[in-house]
Amino acid sequence: MFYVNDLTDCGENCGPACSCGKYVELGNNVFMSNNKETDGSLTELKQKNIDVGLEFERLLILTNGLNNVYETDLFTPIINALERVTVQKYDETKKKVLELSLNT
Ligand SMILES: [Zn+2]
Repeated sequence: MFYVNDLTDCGENCGPACSCGKYVELGNNVFMSNNKETDGSLTELKQKNIDVGLEFERLLILTNGLNNVYETDLFTPIINALERVTVQKYDETKKKVLELSLNT
């Protein structure tokens, strides 16, 4: 389940697997029907389930117009505390990490 932001495709391969920000995964369904045995074989479960992963923080992204889960009220107190302890600013550190990942 994806929310599609009103953004232009980042390229011809832009899609739900893209990390450009156009697609925000709200959740997913996992259909559990088999148990994987230690030898790798599959055994059909007596009780089949559908696990619905609908993450609360992802709903907060949409309802609050944010860009990522770390900007939600769930994480900002933690990030603020870490900023005080480490004397580092989240936005500056995030930018440095992004630059490092692009240069490797
Ligand atoms: Zn994209």
